[in-house]
Amino acid sequence: MTSFADITTMGVGGPIAHFIEPTTRVGLIEAVEDADSKGLPLIVIGGGSNMLIADEPFAGVVVRDARRQITVPDEAAPVEGEDRTVHVCAEAGVNWDDLVAFTVELGLEGIEGLSGIPGTVGASVVQNIGAYGQEVATSVESVEVWDRKTKTTSEMTAADLQFGYRSSALKSSMYQAPGQPADEFFPTPRYVVLSVTFVLTHSQQGTVGYGQLAKALGVEVGDRMDTATIRDAVLKVRAAKGMLEDPTRYTLDAMAGTKREENILKDLKRLSALNETANIAPEPNGLPAPDYNRHSCGSFFMNPILPADQTTRLPEDAPRFAAELPDGTPGVKTSAAWLIDHAGCHKGFKADDGAAASLSTQHTLALTNRGGATAADIEQLARAVQQRVHDAFGIDLVPEPVCVNVLER
Ligand SMILES: Cc1cc2nc3c(=O)[nH]c(=O)nc-3n(C[C@H](O)[C@H](O)[C@H](O)COP(=O)(O)OP(=O)(O)OC[C@H]3O[C@@H](n4cnc5c(N)ncnc54)[C@H](O)[C@@H]3O)c2cc1C
Repeated sequence: MTSFADITTMGVGGPIAHFIEPTTRVGLIEAVEDADSKGLPLIVIGGGSNMLIADEPFAGVVVRDARRQITVPDEAAPVEGEDRTVHVCAEAGVNWDDLVAFTVELGLEGIEGLSGIPGTVGASVVQNIGAYGQEVATSVESVEVWDRKTKTTSEMTAADLQFGYRSSALKSSMYQAPGQPADEFFPTPRYVVLSVTFVLTHSQQGTVGYGQLAKALGVEVGDRMDTATIRDAVLKVRAAKGMLEDPTRYTLDAMAGTKREENILKDLKRLSALNETANIAPEPNGLPAPDYNRHSCGSFFMNPILPADQTTRLPEDAPRFAAELPDGTPGVKTSAAWLIDHAGCHKGFKADDGAAASLSTQHTLALTNRGGATAADIEQLARAVQQRVHDAFGIDLVPEPVCVNVLER
């Protein structure tokens, strides 16, 4: 029986009563509609890289889209005049980094900065993934969805999707307030993504959009460089922070076929090289030893946005950025990683000495499974971090991953 521990990057979570992998668009819609009409709990899962799910058996239906086609409808048309726009359509089940690798190889600019983010195309638009100066929102033309409420398919434009910082109309349909699940559609949005149409630019070069990346490349922010070079640098910077997924997960039976073989092999090779430099021996089966810093959901807490009159809680030296509150009024965003560190939870922090869960040893914002941890262990760690930050600054950290039957308020 498939369990969430097998299909999530955190590697925790209980067995699944009904696991379905539809291979057609109609099959996907039918699987979702069948669960909804029977009133069964439903999780549409992608790469499981932004979900923390409880250890208890899940009595509902889990649907993972097994369609993984990428098409380029404009490919046959000659590039006319100055217009270098190229549309790329990807089915929701496509592995996100497979798509990035494909577009970079095809000489398209637009999503190279999002290299190495785990997960799928379908989920990329749910939380408007972003990193190193890029956000998926700027490259999305439209998203085809199945609306679970009206029971129809529709095309949502970028405007309909209301993209914001790690948010979209799809994600908002799951929450009544930050971190508070909505009654009707949780933990799967009202709108199930069927496919996404991206609008990219025909160009071998991209813009370096972020200081840390510019530093790694020895250039200035705003400089133009080969997209392949940018992709390579992003993967290296992410690896150095444990912010890539562990490629050994794709050797599990439950993950078979979810990512292109040639890309898994490249990722395994990169991990082997890193392990070799760190003198970490391969496993007896020849695979590189797993990197437990990557057994995470990436950043576990959202950067808090405080109303302007509450920033007195922040020490003078805490990072501050102008931002908008959910109601559109101006606020101040600070860094969750900074708060965690300054509340005394440093890299590698554990709730208990013997605990199987800890903060990453490379990043205070990632909660990690060090091997054999349960969802309860991750919950204990998350609560310990939240408590310390609350005690130190009076700020309540809200988890970024979708938490199912765990970490409930
Ligand atoms: C090591 C690591 C690094 C990360 N770095 C980043 C980063 O730099 N930037 C960033 O933004 N995120 C980052 N993340 C978070 C994560 O990769 C993204 O949120 C990703 O988009 C999740 O994709 P997924 O397919 O794994 O989604 P899942 O975890 O499977 O699902 C997340 C949510 O999306 C919903 N969903 C999934 N598929 C669909 C669909 N077809 N239609 C509708 N809803 C759907 C699920 O129901 C669930 O509510 C990181 C995670 C890890 C583990």
